[in-house]
Order: sequence, then C-alpha cells, then structure tokens
Amino acid sequence: MQWDRYTRKQVREVVDKAISQNLNYRNQIILGLPGSFLDPEEFYEDAPFLQDSPFLKTLVANPNHIGCHTLGDGEPAFQGTAEIERDLLEICACEIFRAKPDEFDGYVASGGTEANLQAMWIYRNYFQQKHAAKLDEIAVLYSEDTHYCVPKGLNMFQLNGHIMPVDEETRKIDLDHLRKSLEQLKAAEVKYLITYMNLGTTMFGSVDPVNEIGDLFTEMEFEFFMHGDGAFGGFIYPFSNPDSEFHFENPYLNSFTLDAHKMLQAPFGTGIFLIRKGFMEYALTEEAGYVKGLDYTMIGSRSGANAVAVWMILRNYGSEGWTYKIRKLVDRTSRLCDSLDERGISYYRDPFMNIVTIHASDIPAHLAEKFLLVPERHDGQNKWWKIVVMEHVTQGALDLFLNELPAMKIQNS
Ligand SMILES: *Cc1c(COP(=O)(O)O)cnc(C)c1O
Repeated sequence: MQWDRYTRKQVREVVDKAISQNLNYRNQIILGLPGSFLDPEEFYEDAPFLQDSPFLKTLVANPNHIGCHTLGDGEPAFQGTAEIERDLLEICACEIFRAKPDEFDGYVASGGTEANLQAMWIYRNYFQQKHAAKLDEIAVLYSEDTHYCVPKGLNMFQLNGHIMPVDEETRKIDLDHLRKSLEQLKAAEVKYLITYMNLGTTMFGSVDPVNEIGDLFTEMEFEFFMHGDGAFGGFIYPFSNPDSEFHFENPYLNSFTLDAHKMLQAPFGTGIFLIRKGFMEYALTEEAGYVKGLDYTMIGSRSGANAVAVWMILRNYGSEGWTYKIRKLVDRTSRLCDSLDERGISYYRDPFMNIVTIHASDIPAHLAEKFLLVPERHDGQNKWWKIVVMEHVTQGALDLFLNELPAMKIQNS
C-alpha cells in the first residue's frame, strides 16, 4: 500500500488546476445547465480565506459530479475535479483494497447507506438479467450485527433477507447455524445469494470471516456475491491488519463500501462505493438521457467538493501518515483494554480495531451516560455500551473515565 503525501502547496495547485479545467459559470456562457455557483450574496467568491482553502473554493464553484466517472466518458462539464475523484477512487481501490488499475468502478456516494444499497441494486439486477431470477430465488444474507441500512434495502428492493446469528461473546457468525439455514434456503429453491461481510460492525467493530463463509457457499453450490461493508472499518482495518481478507485479490469479494465521514473526518456526504469492472452497468438508468456519460448511480447530482475533501485528507497524510495515525488509535484502544482488564471489566474488541464494547453489567449506566458511551439499544434491554477511540477520544478523556470506574467496582462488590 503506497500513495504519496502532497504538501499543502501541491494540494492547492492540483485543486486550482482542476477548478480551472471545469466549466466556469462565471466567465463562460453556459445557458443550459440547471446549476450555478453558490449564491453570490451569501458565498461571495472574493472572500480572502477562500484562496487558502481548496475545499471551500471548490464548494463555492459548486461542481456537480453526477454519474460515474470511472466508466465511459463521464459528464465533461466538470472534468477537472472529476479527475481528482478518479485519483481518490484509485487510492481506495488499488492501494487500500488491492485492485489492479482500470479493473474497478466506483463513485463518491452520499454515505455508507447509499454505497451498500448500490451493491444490492446491482446484484439483484444482475441475477434478474443474467439468470432471469425471480425475487424469491434471491436471498440477502447478513449477520445480526449488520448495519440497519441492509434491512432498509431489502424493503426498497423487495428482496428476502436472512440473518446470520452471531455468538454472544465472540460476535462471530455461527457457521453451524448458517449451514442449516443454507440447507433450508436450498430446499426453498433459493439459488442466488447477496451477502454483506462486515469490515467492522458499527456496534462491536467485529470483522466477518469472509473466507470461511465463501468456502461454505461454494461447497453448497450457491451462486453468490459478497460485498465488504467497510463503512466503519475500511479506513482502519486494512492499515492495522496485514492479513486482512478484505481486498480485491480475494476472489470472494466483489465490491466495497467505505465511509470517509467516519474515521477520515471528512464532511458528511462522503461514502465511497467500489466494485469490480463489469458490474456497474447493471445499475444503468437508460432514461438518464440528459446526463452525458449516462448515470449508473443511485444518487444523481452530487457535490464535487466532497470528493475533493476526501482526496485532500488522504493526500495530506499519504499512506505512511495515515497508517501511523491508525496505529496510534489502535494502540490507544489496546491501552484502554489493558486498563479494563486490570479492573476485571469484560468487553468485546477485535485487536485490529478501535472499538471497545463493554458488558452493560460491568459498568454503571449513569457513568456510561455521563461519558456518552453509546448503548446497543435504547429500549431498556441494553446489554452493551461502546467506546469508539477516535481522534477526539484522547488519553486524558479515557483516563477521566477510567478514574471513575474502580470506585464503582468496589461499590458493586
Ligand atoms: C455507519 C455505517 C453504515 C451507514 O453509513 P452512513 O454513512 O451513515 O449512511 C453502514 N455500515 C456500517 C458498518 C456503518 O458503520
């Protein structure tokens, strides 16, 4: 994994050049596009601070990245910043997820939800178009710890879902139970599977066993697609675990979600969808005649400034800087776990992730609430509280929390 770090000056030059290659609503005659620069009363272009902020400058110029720019010609109006989006996608696909150049498609989606739904949409259409599959012959499999956007998608795409239960303590998918479910699906004449593999669940940071499950599907002769949901862990796990199974060299995985507005601290609206070449076409909306380069995405119009923001963050760190930052956060998480161990407090944690999920029985609710830990559920049945070690979760903040914990243990005993 290697991408170069750019200095602030280099970043500014690349973005300035990109903006100059875009159509410019200010100095060109553009009569037909239903877009313009941001409202000039509120967002005046000559504000001095814009010179030093490539992101804000792009935001004010307001390029529309509608469509998919790794495929076909793409909308030519904003080619400059679209090229930055392509560079960003190439870093994510080729460096983080080990794709070969030109063997992937993707785009910056509104978030992890959209990227996950885009995958479901493509695979459903694939099975329908390639195999004339009926909806009842397709099943969507996902672990019980999967993000709720997957069941949301089942409703939208009218697909049947099957939950894979996990072990209460290890949060690992129960493979014996899965084998039985698959036998039942076979008996019900389900032939095609769409599976979500978590690259870090939202609540536990647990990582699903791609190869074990892929082997099981293969052994039981299902045709299947696996989507890696790295909305939470996509910018963490590939950097912390050199033996990650989540990458395009693994033939079981066909597409990925990443979310730059989580760990990468980019503005909201920066999900990333990546898929092997040859599949984006199944989400083509042929009626999108007015979009030059056609539309293969769920979203339609979207902000080019979002792609620039994510690209700037990744280029500011470079692969070495980002790897170092992730190591620091994972180490801080390990130190938190050591302190919990010393106090006899039990929790779940994947050793390569920065989430610690504590048994509710081991920590008083008022303390969890005081420090804004997030509960697994809000209905009075909560069994877990989680801590996510992000940039703002400093050692000092963790120490304050830990300092209050031992006293509670003494009261409990
Ligand atoms: C946050 C998250 C999502 C949804 O992402 P949004 O950006 O909120 O739409 C999907 N999957 C996982 C694992 C997540 O953590």
